[in-house]
Amino acid sequence: MLRRSPLRLLTRSAAYLKEEGTGTAPQPFSDWLQSRGFRDVRGYQHFRRRSAFNAQGRLLPGIAVATVGSLVVWTTCREEIPYTHRKHLILVSQDQEKRLGQQVFKQVKEEAVQQRKLLPASHPYTRLVQRVGKRISQQATDGFRGTGVHSHMQGLEWEFLVVDEDQENAFVVPGGKVVVYSGLLKMLDDEEELATVLSHEVAHVLARHVAEKVTQSMTWLAFFIILEWTLGLPLPIDIISGLVMSQNSRKLETEADRIGLTLAAQACYNPSAFVPVMTKLGEAEAKAGFKTPEFLRTHPVSTTRIRQIKADLPAAEEKPAHLMPGRPNLPTWARQT
Ligand SMILES: [Zn+2]
Repeated sequence: MLRRSPLRLLTRSAAYLKEEGTGTAPQPFSDWLQSRGFRDVRGYQHFRRRSAFNAQGRLLPGIAVATVGSLVVWTTCREEIPYTHRKHLILVSQDQEKRLGQQVFKQVKEEAVQQRKLLPASHPYTRLVQRVGKRISQQATDGFRGTGVHSHMQGLEWEFLVVDEDQENAFVVPGGKVVVYSGLLKMLDDEEELATVLSHEVAHVLARHVAEKVTQSMTWLAFFIILEWTLGLPLPIDIISGLVMSQNSRKLETEADRIGLTLAAQACYNPSAFVPVMTKLGEAEAKAGFKTPEFLRTHPVSTTRIRQIKADLPAAEEKPAHLMPGRPNLPTWARQT
């Protein structure tokens, strides 16, 4: 929903502008011919330009605009993700990202209240999720009292809600708002497993994955508009961008798994508890008959995730001193008690 709405809106705006551009008064044929063709050095009139690189006189300017624009944006707007050190393009401000998250969270919360599905703060599920979530999020902010070293994590007001719905799912929105469904909690066996799930969600916030996805939608749209303008052909924007964005979404999920394992270990939970969680999620999917091929999915299939989690576990289980040079090799929450 977050990914596709701005894309559709902007696509519609682009289509509207194109239609406006064709609404001109009728031209005499000679004028039309002059405007469509060109006259060569011997004075012969051609209907089309003859150079392949100047099919409509727009290819080279199009490439130049795209190249210069991309280089400027690429060199000035990249950020490094904590822990994995991957650099990604972000064109959304921290405030915009948080506002986006607050809107979605408010909507989900209001719907849950209306449907009487929001578990109260005193419910054992809510208390458990909040206790574990607070412990994990303190690690992610990397500063027990909101003095984190990552600017977008500073001063976040983390919230953890439990919605009484029979689905094995949890999600997070920017600004540190996490929703867990009771169906997932019923599937988990212990607090260690819950900690790995919450670590994965918190990792999405730490890595600004939503901002990255919104940025990608914007850049893909700009790319397609330039390409369509250059080639003069309609392109299947939804299909191509959908495939590319699904592939990227799987990459981000894998990254959140990797960062989450480290966060869980830093908070003194057992990161290997994520393996049985993935096994159970895979079994639940199989039971529900969910057979979408991996290349169309926003998340990798559970067997792929388990393989990658096992490969990442040794690094996560090492004490995180190598990840946080100069800091005591003891989790922050433990130092405060
Ligand atoms: Zn995720």
